[in-house]
Amino acid sequence: MTQKFIAGNWKMNGSTAANDLLLSGLLAGIGQPACQVAVCVPSIYVAQCHGLIAGTSISLGVQDVSQHESGAYTGEISAAMLKDCGVRFAIVGHSERRQYHGETDTVVATKAQRALGCGITPIVCVGETLAEREAGQTEAVVKRQLAAVIHANGHCISELVVAYEPVWAIGTGRSATAEQAQQVHAVLRTQLRAASSKADGIQILYGGSMNAANAKDLLAQQDIDGGLIGGAALKVQDFLTIIAAAQ
Ligand code: PEP
Repeated sequence: MTQKFIAGNWKMNGSTAANDLLLSGLLAGIGQPACQVAVCVPSIYVAQCHGLIAGTSISLGVQDVSQHESGAYTGEISAAMLKDCGVRFAIVGHSERRQYHGETDTVVATKAQRALGCGITPIVCVGETLAEREAGQTEAVVKRQLAAVIHANGHCISELVVAYEPVWAIGTGRSATAEQAQQVHAVLRTQLRAASSKADGIQILYGGSMNAANAKDLLAQQDIDGGLIGGAALKVQDFLTIIAAAQ
């Protein structure tokens, strides 16, 4: 069994004062967590958050990384820059990036490659829309999204974290049931096993309205190795409760 991993996705929330309050609250209550913990912060706050959590049990992550290595890409932040500033994890292919920024499966796969190339662990998000679920396409969609990442990253995929995030569950308060999530996680595990002999060690997180009330049930499923948490990661007590549920 792999160690569980709870990662917070702060999205475009926070301020220097709010980050300070949130991280000091988490550090005061976290004790010695039995799982891995990370917060994926807006890139502008990487330096501040690194200063607050360096040397603690909370690791630093971001929410995106450039598909380009370096050069004339105004506004972009490269994997090497993130690594230089103490970042360990980068979410790639979040549905909000796919939806609002036109990120294709190929772009997401390249981003994962850039992160891995610089020693940053990509948290690769896959997930179907409600329309795709209702059309019976869930399995085909997540397999297509993951296949692009496997294709581009070969044997390095054992270094990834995968997050199954059904789009209809993100930020809606309507989580997948533990059974629905486990069903898709099992599909992803099978796909990873076909590509890597180390697939059983790849953490597959669930994300989509995971909260203090439903975390235990979701995290008890065989192939759910942790959670990618949005809204509940902004509340100290809720995030701590989810971490405690990941034992
Ligand atoms: C997310 O943004 O990755 C997410 C899972 O959000 P929420 O927990 O708010 O649904």
